[in-house]
Amino acid sequence: RHHCRIFRDGTGYSVEDLGSTNGCFVNGEQVRKLGLRDGDRLRVGQCELKFFGEGSAEASYHRELLNHAVFDALTGFYNRRQSREMLEHAFDRGRREPGRLRLMILDLDHFKPVNDRYGHLAGDRVLAGFAAVVKSLLATDVVAGRLGGEEFVVFSAQQTGPEFRALAERIRAALEVTDLPIDNGVVRVTVSIGIAEQVPDMRAAADMLRLADAALYKAKLGGRNRVVIGDS
Ligand code: GH3
Ligand code: MG
Ligand code: MG
Repeated sequence: RHHCRIFRDGTGYSVEDLGSTNGCFVNGEQVRKLGLRDGDRLRVGQCELKFFGEGSAEASYHRELLNHAVFDALTGFYNRRQSREMLEHAFDRGRREPGRLRLMILDLDHFKPVNDRYGHLAGDRVLAGFAAVVKSLLATDVVAGRLGGEEFVVFSAQQTGPEFRALAERIRAALEVTDLPIDNGVVRVTVSIGIAEQVPDMRAAADMLRLADAALYKAKLGGRNRVVIGDS
């Protein structure tokens, strides 16, 4: 059931009640259909929403706040909290249509020596450079997040096993041959990747992360700069 819809109407936006039991209220008055103006307050059930018109200064402020809350400033990927949340949603959806969700954890190899040798700022540029390489290879149906430090997560519910493994391998192979710029030159780094697939006996996204982590650990033990698929 849908309570109401908000839609583009000529040059602006309008709200239309879809026969809801409790009605729609704009600035305290019940409406059936109404054009929305900047600053209007729309109440739908227990939710109060505020409408920002195009070019509203308050809207840019909220957009900025949202960006800070959701994205990692250094890499532009989703931050830890947001990527965990999105992963959990994808996991719950995946329980209804099993065998679809796949994730990889990516951890840069021997990254501490890069920091030790060139400094933390250079290390940051390397992280940003790595993110740019990953971004250039991602399809639109793939989500990328920074779990923290030099550890990242990439997941998708749209790709087949072979497609997803090929993506991991493409990232690994591209990074290996890419010069990442730092202040006085370039560096090259490699990445190890652990992959996990959602299976029916997994109870939470954390189970998938654990499986991918174990595969990542094997990749490190096996000599780094490789992709390992976790077997559950
Ligand atoms: P391994 O191949 O086993 O992963 O070795 P590693 O050196 O990459 O792993 P380790 O976990 O020992 O070190 C990770 C380093 O990442 C430690 C820290 O100096 C660095 N690091 C973590 N977060 C950041 C960051 O935001 N910026 C920079 N420049 N360095 C970071
Ligand atoms: Mg590392
Ligand atoms: Mg690490």
